[in-house]
Amino acid sequence: MNLLHVDTISETRKKLAAYCERIAPAIEICGLIEAAGRVLAADCYSAENIPPYRRSTVDGYAVRSKDLGAAGDMTPSILRVTGEVVLGTDPGDVTVTAGNCVYVPTGGAVPDGADAVVMVEYCELFGGSMLAVSKSAAPGENVVQVGEDVRMGDLLVRRGRTLRPQDVGALAAAGISMVPVYTPWRVTVISTGDELVPPDEAPGPGQIRDINSYTVAARSAAEGFQVVRTVLVRDDREALLQALTAAKADSDVVVLSGGSSQGKKDMSAELVGLAADSGVLTHGIAAKPGKPTITGFDGESGTLFIGLPGHPAAALMVYEQVLIRLWRDLTEQPEERTVRARITTTLQSAAGRRTFQLVKLTDGEAGELPAAAPVLARSGMIAPMSAADGYFEMSENQEGVKAGDTVCVHLWK
Ligand code: AMP
Ligand code: MG
Repeated sequence: MNLLHVDTISETRKKLAAYCERIAPAIEICGLIEAAGRVLAADCYSAENIPPYRRSTVDGYAVRSKDLGAAGDMTPSILRVTGEVVLGTDPGDVTVTAGNCVYVPTGGAVPDGADAVVMVEYCELFGGSMLAVSKSAAPGENVVQVGEDVRMGDLLVRRGRTLRPQDVGALAAAGISMVPVYTPWRVTVISTGDELVPPDEAPGPGQIRDINSYTVAARSAAEGFQVVRTVLVRDDREALLQALTAAKADSDVVVLSGGSSQGKKDMSAELVGLAADSGVLTHGIAAKPGKPTITGFDGESGTLFIGLPGHPAAALMVYEQVLIRLWRDLTEQPEERTVRARITTTLQSAAGRRTFQLVKLTDGEAGELPAAAPVLARSGMIAPMSAADGYFEMSENQEGVKAGDTVCVHLWK
């Protein structure tokens, strides 16, 4: 493998997606609390009107608005109180007729005949059952109409939505207590490098701490994936092949970080080729950072392999662009939201490669877009990535951006 032929990022995803049926996440049915934070797998419609009855938004008296005329502080209207609606019950025979009114608590059903509710604050009871009302009411005032919140047949939540609290609330309101959601991928992260030690060990001469196991596992968890394990393995052919093969048994995705280029000890491409029965699908992508990237798919176990560059910023960016975006495509999630901003500096992109530029955002002047200042990072650095709010992309055939150009910034999760 000589890294002379590289795929674009979308070609890389397309080659993997060709195995779509095998890598498509399963769907499971679960209760709403468990479903929160997961990706909905089917459109959900309401079979009911919400609210199902006309509902008062205040504690007050249900009235016919025309009976109040121009009632005010000095000129109250006088009505007779003929009944009371009890919360959680059908008002039944209770109706409001000319010159009369009925007490309704907040959330209670507004009885037939009434078209508005006047808040108790504007009402004064006297003589047992008479009411002085010191305010007029418009038709519909303080009343939520049947189906005003949700109409029967309305789409409540679309497939591909990561269920937020308000979404599970809407489903609960419509009586949908079980929903189909995608089963998250199970991910094993294997980091390789003779120079790597875990964060709780002091590195010896020429050693550094393992970063990628942590960034990739954390990014996976943020997407809702199940991190099966992270393992740190020496640049040892047998040990690596064994780790890759073992991971096939209980993982949908096996991430191998490091060793993806052409150095003396780089054997990730060869090993992915052995572990995945597809062989190596992609070795090398037209991206900066992120060129040395490997993919493969093992049909027998249904496992997707991705070999990431060792440089931490490149590893995380490639994971985002290839694996996370593939998951989002397969689960029909909408395009990620971006923030438009003005780039503060003229920048060149890498010719023929999709270039990802880290930026930090600051608020713009009133009416102006936010400013995006490039965060410059040399290969292998991690802190600039941590300092950045996100990144923007320059396409393969774009030469760069000029100071003042508008760019679309993807914010970090
Ligand atoms: P490699 O792809 O193995 O040639 O690694 C490229 C660079 O990334 C080297 O400087 C490695 O030390 C560094 N590197 C590789 N893996 C990791 C890791 N898990 N955490 C931090 N740095 C790494
Ligand atoms: Mg290495």
